[in-house]
Amino acid sequence: MVAVHVVGGGVAGLTIASLLPSDWGVHLYEPRWDERRVPTLFGIYPDGQAVLDQVGVLSDLTEESIPVGEGRIFSGDGTLLTSMKLAEVRMVPHTTLIDLLQRHLPSHVTVHREEVSGPTALQAGAETIVVGADGVHSEVRKSYWGSSAHARKLNVTVVRGVTETGPRLEGLDGYWAAGGLFGMTPRPGGGINWFATVPQEHFETRQVALETLSRRWSEAPEALHEVLRHADPALTLVNELWEARFTRKLHREHAVLVGDAAHAMAPNVARGANEALLDAQELAEALAKYPPGKAFQVYQRKRHLRTQGMKIVSRMVHRMSSTRREGFRNRVLTLLP
Ligand SMILES: Cc1cc2nc3c(=O)[nH]c(=O)nc-3n(C[C@H](O)[C@H](O)[C@H](O)COP(=O)(O)OP(=O)(O)OC[C@H]3O[C@@H](n4cnc5c(N)ncnc54)[C@H](O)[C@@H]3O)c2cc1C
Repeated sequence: MVAVHVVGGGVAGLTIASLLPSDWGVHLYEPRWDERRVPTLFGIYPDGQAVLDQVGVLSDLTEESIPVGEGRIFSGDGTLLTSMKLAEVRMVPHTTLIDLLQRHLPSHVTVHREEVSGPTALQAGAETIVVGADGVHSEVRKSYWGSSAHARKLNVTVVRGVTETGPRLEGLDGYWAAGGLFGMTPRPGGGINWFATVPQEHFETRQVALETLSRRWSEAPEALHEVLRHADPALTLVNELWEARFTRKLHREHAVLVGDAAHAMAPNVARGANEALLDAQELAEALAKYPPGKAFQVYQRKRHLRTQGMKIVSRMVHRMSSTRREGFRNRVLTLLP
């Protein structure tokens, strides 16, 4: 019997574990199984929603999510630069998505609430596949591809969170200023989901991060201040942003990468989790049809170029959103149809 070791129980790992053939021995490793973080929202597009439908969680998730409607981009002083329809994107709480995927795991998947420290820990053999679904700092990637495959910093710190109340919003509002952006969307059930980037900075506490943002955006419209006034350090996260380095192949020996382990990207086009879902679907489908070697090649062909392209687009939008050449950028954006 084929044994599959899925390292990591985030969106990518839980999805592929659900979609693999039921007569295989599927083992899922996740040390933070019971950890629930701040319920910040993800934008999930129709292609990602289709994978969630296949897993069987879409209808439950739809009840707990909210459509974005429209995306608007403003300059730092509140001038509207452009707007776009995003009606089919749904904002989904990360914590709810993980809960649902965990609860829908088929019974043939064995969950190990433990960290995998290296491939040897998995006793990989001829009939064994190791799926690296362990995120941007993937242990599987480091073990099989070596130290040159470590993620690289984008030199940006992201501060984000949710509030229980806030301004009335119809969709995604983003403020783009030199050195960083501030974005916000409504939350299902009320309140605001918000995120901001600053050039890489270490904040002693989350309270300090919130105070820094208030100062940084002192000239911004009232809606943004209202969000920051309601922001609670306990419902705030601070992270560095990283990007996965390019690897020529998504597979090596009996290991294969999915999700952020394969292509962690700047979050500016909101595609990371969507691409993770599509990876899981394509890899599971290929593994069900072909022997592992051939399945890896099919997966590589379908997913590698597309996800690398998405990584580049995300990086470009990230740079454009916080460029110091704001005048030029703003003129270009106002010309968009
Ligand atoms: C600010 C921000 C906003 C974003 N917004 C969006 C959005 O709107 N839409 C979108 O599609 N994407 C968005 N993303 C991207 C999205 O969060 C990621 O692409 C997605 O979560 C990747 O899922 P994953 O399962 O590949 O990795 P992860 O979610 O990182 O999961 C990896 C899992 O592996 C586990 N793990 C790590 N090491 C080991 C080990 N050694 N052994 C066992 N387990 C291990 C971890 O505990 C973790 O649970 C955003 C990202 C950020 C930072």
